[in-house]
Amino acid sequence: MADRGAELQANLAAVHERIATACGDAVRDPAEITLVAITKFFPASDIVHLVDLGVRHVGENKDQEAGAKVAELPAEVRELLTVHFVGQLQSNKAAHVARYADVVQSVDRTKIVKALDRGTGTALGEGGRHTPLEVTIQVDLGEGADAGRGGAAPADVPALADAVAATEHLRLRGVMAVAPLGVDEDGTAAAFQRFADLSARLRADHPDATWISAGMSGDLETAVTHGATHLRVGTGILGTRR
Ligand SMILES: *Cc1c(COP(=O)(O)O)cnc(C)c1O
Repeated sequence: MADRGAELQANLAAVHERIATACGDAVRDPAEITLVAITKFFPASDIVHLVDLGVRHVGENKDQEAGAKVAELPAEVRELLTVHFVGQLQSNKAAHVARYADVVQSVDRTKIVKALDRGTGTALGEGGRHTPLEVTIQVDLGEGADAGRGGAAPADVPALADAVAATEHLRLRGVMAVAPLGVDEDGTAAAFQRFADLSARLRADHPDATWISAGMSGDLETAVTHGATHLRVGTGILGTRR
């Protein structure tokens, strides 16, 4: 599909334009923002196109799909990429994720922290990876009835962060969240502001935990306004699932 490269190029340019405009409005430097292309549902060949177009961060949300796709990438493509895992994670899958992911953004309970640390230790020992696993804690920004898009309750974040910091092989980099379901733009803005405040409190104890992963195709401008450092954009770049 010769046209797929052109399609991805146009979509990517439009997303970069939106980020630039949002940064202009928020008086922020676009260089502070890392764009993570969420490639779930799309083939490894799309990742190859994206790397050609300068993308260096991709994200996946299902272990089986992600592992197979990363394995399919040519070595010279893989080595240019940082692979983020952003999906809900079961502890029995953690060791496998630790073999191919550079970052796990969706850490939301102690059991996962332990499983990822063990899995990363094993992968390092076997030469399957060479760096610590970078992690962010996923925070549930839903209030009351609409909670449940995954993530730890805000009150549980400090203890979880301490648990990550105490591991041998994991490196705490910050926090991740998805906007709550069923709220309007003001509700999303309020949630992202609470999230930025939570991040500031976390950094008082963990100064390296600087990443604020918030914002997807539909709300990336709001996320930029409220301090996001990482945007996870799927449909805006890849298009809708076919
Ligand atoms: C799918 C997904 C995204 C991307 O969502 P889009 O609306 O397609 O941009 C971001 N974050 C997570 C955790 C996802 O699962």
